[in-house]
Amino acid sequence: MKTFIRLTAIVRPYFWWMALAALIGFATTGSGIGLLMTSAYIIAKAALQPPMAALQLGIVGVRFFGLARGVLRYAERLVSHNTTFRILAKLRLWFYDALEPLAPARLLHFRSGDLLQRIVDDIQSLENLYTRVLAPPVTAILVALLMWVLAGTYSLQAALLILCFHLLAGIGVPLLTMLLGRGLSVGIMNRKTDQQLLALDLIQGIGELQVYGRLAGHLEEMRSVESAKLQLQRKNAIVEGLQESLTGLLMNGAVLTILWALIPIVSTGAMNGISLAVITLAVMASFEPFIPLPAAVKHLEADRHAGKRLFEILDAKPETSSPAAPVPFPANRAIKIEKLSFTYPGSLTKALDSICFSVPAGQHIAIVGPSGAGKSTITSLFMRFWNSSEGGISIGDVDISLLDPEELRRNISLVSQRTYLFAETIRENLLLAKPDATDEELRKALSQAGLINFASKLDEWIGQHGMKLSGGERQRIAIARIVLQNAPMIILDEATANLDGITEKEVTDTLSSISRGKTMITITHRLKAMDQYDNIIVLDKGKIVAQGVHENLMNREGLYHRMWELQHATPAVLTEVPE
Ligand code: ADP
Repeated sequence: MKTFIRLTAIVRPYFWWMALAALIGFATTGSGIGLLMTSAYIIAKAALQPPMAALQLGIVGVRFFGLARGVLRYAERLVSHNTTFRILAKLRLWFYDALEPLAPARLLHFRSGDLLQRIVDDIQSLENLYTRVLAPPVTAILVALLMWVLAGTYSLQAALLILCFHLLAGIGVPLLTMLLGRGLSVGIMNRKTDQQLLALDLIQGIGELQVYGRLAGHLEEMRSVESAKLQLQRKNAIVEGLQESLTGLLMNGAVLTILWALIPIVSTGAMNGISLAVITLAVMASFEPFIPLPAAVKHLEADRHAGKRLFEILDAKPETSSPAAPVPFPANRAIKIEKLSFTYPGSLTKALDSICFSVPAGQHIAIVGPSGAGKSTITSLFMRFWNSSEGGISIGDVDISLLDPEELRRNISLVSQRTYLFAETIRENLLLAKPDATDEELRKALSQAGLINFASKLDEWIGQHGMKLSGGERQRIAIARIVLQNAPMIILDEATANLDGITEKEVTDTLSSISRGKTMITITHRLKAMDQYDNIIVLDKGKIVAQGVHENLMNREGLYHRMWELQHATPAVLTEVPE
């Protein structure tokens, strides 16, 4: 119920639009009833062979209601779709607005297929909240009231009997179908989520599944989810069929009952036969708005489930938040890290433990250490994806938590191990860094990044995740983005780790030349060309174990020296001199 109330709060701004659509919906059904009533009037009256003029009223009525029904149906569709699309747009914006601050920290425990399902299908399901859940009962209630008045003018007993049938069709049948179909909608939705997750795993991991001989098992799992979904859909179809038959049965029951109640009145002469025919057909037509009610109950269940899943994400508190009055970005770009500690939620060990170091403006430093030492955690804290547990990071003596996070990220160019490229053209992928860049600027950036041959292919599609490019080319696109962004600080997080030796050297050289004069932090576990750095921080198990320039670190026994020796040892076989 709480979820439903929260959902209705979202659509509340559209109350008047919804009320208008419901009113036109009622007028449409009313015209349908009027059409049948006037038709019955003409047929019954004509059977008595009156003069043509006596049928005029009926003929005008048929024309009026016939035309009105079509026009009103069109107007109702127009208004209700307009309302639905407004609600949908609001829902999507509302969801994206709430989702963005949660990334990436709070979204880590959601699988991407699951998130996709929530963004697409759950919101799509809520789109029907008005048309399929809220509007049908309103129309049904108004029609029941109309019939109460119509039948009540002839007999209170008849009006009461019709009300009973309407209550059975409006409450009894939906309740019965809800009981019989309990869990079916949610079950179908869950199976669809499973299918999406399995399909994503299949597409993204087909290579691994093939190599480890798991493809057949995975396909079997997909088949079993599909058959479980089909089974639920079959049950659902049976319940739907039953519901339609029951509503039809009640309609016929109401017709028979009204005849039973009114024929004695006709016999007494208090009511004429034509009125009996008219009211009987009106009763028949009045059941039309009751047909969608059981489906409304089912949609309500699905919407509550979808709403719960969306609120689950939206209720998560963002890990980091923007300060109410951010401090202007400092002109001094010196970085200072003081007693920085961080523990990931649920982890018992500190990923970073009282780290202290500083980077004077314009200097290039490296943070090195074995895998799991905590190097990337520093980047995440720097980009404000997470908040530090203790201590902090400051730029020009201003703590980064006082800065606007968006401005902070605009001032830092980050290149990670795997550059994310969108399935777009080269141009679109570059404009991400500078949306208003001219073609000339794009070409210059590509040329500086060592991709001069791409300058003439700005509109070439680069494939899903940039599949049509080599690893080196993808990283060079990231470098071109740095050139365009022209931020004063650069963080390279294992930016060349995936490249072969020769490409790595070329990319590193390009990076050194474009980062001249900028403050740069290079995070790496591979010790290459280390003498170019002004300072090297050696990190192990979240702690700084040494720092200094390459030469000094090499003169000491320790982790850095060992890592260097290990990575630069010449295989014995090569040093052996053949006799
Ligand atoms: P490095 O970049 O030096 O390889 P990381 O900074 O990625 O190391 O990780 C430091 C430690 O934090 C590791 O023990 C790692 O398992 C842990 N860790 C990293 N990311 C998460 C996360 N999202 N949740 C929990 N623990 C994490």
